Amino acid sequence: AKKAGRNRFAWFDQSMERDLQVRNELESGLRLAIPRQEVVPYFEQQIDLTTGRLHGFEVLARWEHPTRGMISPEQFIPIAEETGMIAELSLSIMRQAFQAARDWDSSLTLSINISPWQLRDAWLAQKVIKTLTETGFPANRLEVEITESSLFDNLPLAQSIVGSLKNQGVRLALDDFGTGYSSLAHLRALPFDRIKIDKSFVMSLNESADSVAIVNAIVSLGESLHLPITAEGVEDAAIEERLRAMGCAKAQGWHYGRPLPQAGVRRLLAERRLL
Ligand code: C2E
Ligand code: CA
Ligand code: CA
Ligand code: CA
Repeated sequence: AKKAGRNRFAWFDQSMERDLQVRNELESGLRLAIPRQEVVPYFEQQIDLTTGRLHGFEVLARWEHPTRGMISPEQFIPIAEETGMIAELSLSIMRQAFQAARDWDSSLTLSINISPWQLRDAWLAQKVIKTLTETGFPANRLEVEITESSLFDNLPLAQSIVGSLKNQGVRLALDDFGTGYSSLAHLRALPFDRIKIDKSFVMSLNESADSVAIVNAIVSLGESLHLPITAEGVEDAAIEERLRAMGCAKAQGWHYGRPLPQAGVRRLLAERRLL
């Protein structure tokens, strides 16, 4: 219930959430929702902190459920992963996002989230490249965000998938850095181009000296490794200014607006002459 107000997602109370019936309802619903394209991409602005300009968007999945309203990815992504539907869901989101972004300004990038489960699919790179080719979205404007330690249960496969994508010009970001799901060891396992600092550190920058120290340390680490940093969860101008002063390259968060559906992005880009 805590998140319902802030994120404006439909949320189920704790007892219902634990209820197997609801879980099963979501699972069978999701199976139909994907081909019906009820699961759609939303777009969150990513800002270049040195120029203040819009750099691109992170693609975030939303389930526009016909009766329950908007369902959060935190609810349906785990179900999609457990059932194997994540592969189909992800390709559907990518196809829709690439199609949408095709006629946006050619300076704009897209970052997509890839679940660690997908790194077990030997055909993942081919599927992504095929989707890029079919939609006409250029590989060098795509960044793939990866989290989580389970990429280590088949590291050679993950490395080969990532290698094929990078050969096409796709860039690679380590997501949620600093949380339990990402670690220093990951940085050496795969050829990352960027580190994303988790919002838990960024959102507390105004109140917590520890968070300031942690973010500073991550930015320095990025400098030493020549990996630019994106901070997520930037909610006000004071935090943005701190991050800029620390040398953080990019920022995203509600300070710049909530994630937008395709039509909202078009309005934003039209205002800024980026269509
Ligand atoms: P994430 O990749 O860490 O994405 C950032 C999350 O933080 C998003 O939540 C975003 O809406 C939220 N956020 C961004 N800025 C702010 C802010 O300033 N304040 C606050 N309070 N929150 C902010 P969202 O969209 O609910 O996504 C949650 C997670 O679901 C994502 O975390 C990602 O792990 C997963 N996810 C979303 N879409 C996809 C997808 O298409 N595929 C996969 N595999 N996972 C996805
Ligand atoms: Ca992400
Ligand atoms: Ca995450
Ligand atoms: Ca995060």
